[in-house]
Amino acid sequence: MSADSGPPPPSAEVDRPVLSIVAPMYNEETNVGPFVAAVAQVLDGAAISYEVVLVDDGSRDGTWAAIEAAAQARPAVRGISLSRNFGHQGALLAGLNHARGQAVVTMDGDLQHPPPTVLELHAAWREGYRVVNTRRLDSEDTSFFKRLTSRTFYWLFSLLTGVRMEAGASDFRLLDRDAVNALIRLGDADLFIRGLVSWLGFRTHTIPYQAGRRHSGVPKFTLRKMIRFSTGAMLSFSAFPLRLGITAGFVTSLLALAEVGYILVAYARGRVVPGWASVMTVMSVMFCVLFVLLGIIGTYLAKVYEILKRRPRFVIENRVGFDPNAPPIGYDR
Ligand code: UDP
Ligand code: MG
Repeated sequence: MSADSGPPPPSAEVDRPVLSIVAPMYNEETNVGPFVAAVAQVLDGAAISYEVVLVDDGSRDGTWAAIEAAAQARPAVRGISLSRNFGHQGALLAGLNHARGQAVVTMDGDLQHPPPTVLELHAAWREGYRVVNTRRLDSEDTSFFKRLTSRTFYWLFSLLTGVRMEAGASDFRLLDRDAVNALIRLGDADLFIRGLVSWLGFRTHTIPYQAGRRHSGVPKFTLRKMIRFSTGAMLSFSAFPLRLGITAGFVTSLLALAEVGYILVAYARGRVVPGWASVMTVMSVMFCVLFVLLGIIGTYLAKVYEILKRRPRFVIENRVGFDPNAPPIGYDR
């Protein structure tokens, strides 16, 4: 534990800052310093009191050392490290759990979410909005693949779940203290913070921003992670695939019934031997539907199983910048 080497207990000022900036960091050793400096420059300039909560999501490089150094250098910086890589959403939730601000801004740690936009989020919050979302304006920088997959996902998600979400939505947003508390209490096993925030409601505003370039390092979202993230999101918000299975079953049953009718007629006419083609057709169609149905049911069953286990969504290993006398927080529930 790093509690012995941490900075002195935070002052009351830092204890309840106006803004908490929460950023997940996964193998971002070269971005921690620049990120903190950029955020500090913007918020010091605007004379808004703040804290920065950096969450090391089980990095394998020197990210934690960089976070400790940043916390040492500035009392407004606090850090948490998770015991392994829990994924972007788990890291964000861990950060939200530790944030003390009257409002919390979540943003990526690679400077693709421009710190100056935080002032716009803050201004909208001051106007009375409880949730301030952002919408990424596609720049030439955004790859065609990213644009296409993101559009397809949001279109499909809205269609399946009825929860409206704009393309280009990301986890760059401001949440009022009440919204943060409500979000933390939801306790969904399959975290999809964007969807949950939309589900929560609250007076919401959206601000467009131009995504910047990654400051350094490589993107951490592999295709595999993206697919897992998007299917998880849809399954946790929609029972539509299950209903789809039932519809498919119904339609094929009708087809099968028609086929039986045809067979009976053929039998009555004494033309039964050349039945190979029709039998094979029915068999393959039925098996196809059967396996799809089984697959869908299996997927949901796996999900129910996940939820029943009630495993925590993150586990904390280290903290820096927190009151050493505070009770240890092992995990989220
Ligand atoms: N991230 C994380 N855990 C992960 C993957 C990513 O904490 O398993 C963080 C990463 O360090 C960055 C943010 O999430 O701060 C966004 O990741 P990335 O830049 O790779 O995503 P992209 O910009 O391609 O959406
Ligand atoms: Mg990025």
